[in-house]
Amino acid sequence: MERRIAWNTYNDEQQKALELLCENYRRYLDKGKTERECTDNTIIIARENGYVDFTDFSAENRRLQAGDKVYFNCMGKAVMLFHIGNKPLSSGMNIVGAHIDSPRMDLKQNPLYEDGGFAYLDTHYYGGIKKYQWVTIPLSLHGVVVKKDGSAVNIVIGEDMSDPVVGISDLLIHLSADQMGKKASVVIEGEDLNLLVGSKPLSSEEKEPVKAAIMGILAEKYGIEEEDFLSAEIEVVPAGNTREFGLDRSMILGYGHDDRVCAFAALDAILKLDKTPEYTCCCMLVDKEEIGSAGATGMKSRFFENAVAELVNAAGDYSDLLVRRSLANSRMLSCDVSAGFDPIYAGAFERKNTAFLGKGVCFNKYTGSRGKGGSNDANAEFIGKIRKIMDDADISFQTAELGKVDQGGGGTIAYICAEYGMEVIDSGVAVLSMHAPWEIISKADLFEAARAYHAFMINA
Ligand code: MN
Ligand code: MN
Repeated sequence: MERRIAWNTYNDEQQKALELLCENYRRYLDKGKTERECTDNTIIIARENGYVDFTDFSAENRRLQAGDKVYFNCMGKAVMLFHIGNKPLSSGMNIVGAHIDSPRMDLKQNPLYEDGGFAYLDTHYYGGIKKYQWVTIPLSLHGVVVKKDGSAVNIVIGEDMSDPVVGISDLLIHLSADQMGKKASVVIEGEDLNLLVGSKPLSSEEKEPVKAAIMGILAEKYGIEEEDFLSAEIEVVPAGNTREFGLDRSMILGYGHDDRVCAFAALDAILKLDKTPEYTCCCMLVDKEEIGSAGATGMKSRFFENAVAELVNAAGDYSDLLVRRSLANSRMLSCDVSAGFDPIYAGAFERKNTAFLGKGVCFNKYTGSRGKGGSNDANAEFIGKIRKIMDDADISFQTAELGKVDQGGGGTIAYICAEYGMEVIDSGVAVLSMHAPWEIISKADLFEAARAYHAFMINA
C-alpha cells in the first residue's frame, strides 16, 4: 500500500513542465490574495483562452453548442467556467471545484480609532486561525470601498516594495510572565487583533490627531471619508509574494494555498483541454468555504444550480427534469487541500492514512470530524473509477484522512454538491502549516493535481 514519490518519476521534460506550471501558479497566487482579486484574475485568464461571459452570450440569443466556452461571474467573488461537451448536459458534467477564500482578518465596519498616540484599524478574523501567528508580521490591506453613489475604490496597500506595510504588535517577552502562562487559544485574543496603522499627529488642535492624519491620507489618496468604511470590504493578509522554499527549491511558501492551489490546478486543467470534451467540463471557484460556504457566493447558494439551468435553457430545450438530470448525473472532484504529514507533530497523524508532501495528488474518501460528521464519504464505485483514470494517466496519487480520528477535523464543499445526487470525492494538495499566514506545498503535488484534474475532465 506504499505510495510512490512523484519526484522519482520525472524525466527532464516533465521537470521543465513542472517548473513552468509552478511559476505560473506563483504569479496567480501573487495576483489573487482575496476572492475578489482571484475572481478578476481568473476571468482575465479565461477570456485570454476564449471564454465568453454567459451574460453576453445569452444577450445575443445564441444557442449553446458543443465546443462553446462560457463563464459565469458570481458577484465578483466566485466564478464558474464551462467547456461544453459533445454529450447533452443531461448526461452529466465532469466538475472540478475549489474555493478561493482564505483565512484572514477583515476590517470591522467601524474600524478606525486612536489610543496611546497610535491609530488602529479594528479587525474581525475570518475562518479558522491560530491568532498568535498573525502578530509581528508585515500585513497588507486588500479590498474595496463602495461609496453611496455606487462607485467603488479598489485598495491594495503593502504589496509594492515602495508601499508601507501594517501589522499587529505583541507584548515584549520581558513583561510576558502572565501572557506566557496562558493557553495558546487565548495568548492573543480575537478582540486584540488591532492593526497599527499610524503614529504621526496631524496638528495639536485635533482631538484625535493621529486618527485625523490617517483619515487625511485616505481622503487624499483614495477619496474616502470615515463613513465609507460602513460599505467597505477590506481584508488584511500577509504582505509579500510567494517564495520558493527549501534549499532544493522543491516547495512553495505562500499565503492562501488553501485553497487557491487547487483552484489554479483546476483552472489549468480546463484551459488545457485541446479539443471538445465528451462530457461538459466545469471549473468552479467559490467563496466562503472557510466560514461554512454561507452567503450568496458560497457553495450553499444556488448560483451553480442556476448556472446549469441557464446552460440547459441555452442548449435548446429547458425543463426542470433536464436540470436535475444534469446535476445528478455529474461527477465531481471537490478540490481542497489536505493536511500534510509533519514529522515534528507526528502524533497528530495516523501514518497509514496520511498525505505526504511529494507523493502526489491526494484523495479523501471522507473528511469531517468525530464519526465522519459533516463529511461526504464518496462511493467505492466512484473511487474505483477514479483509480483507473489516475493509473491509466500515470498520475502519482495518495489517499488520506485529515489527521488522527478524534483529533479535530474539517469540511469542504463536497457534501453540499453531493446533495444534488452526483458522485463527489474530495481531492487536493497536501499543505504544511495549513491556515498559517504562510503555508507550504510541494511543487510535485501541484503538478500531479493539475495532471489529475485534466485526466478526470477527459476520462470521467
Ligand atoms: Mn480549504
Ligand atoms: Mn481551510
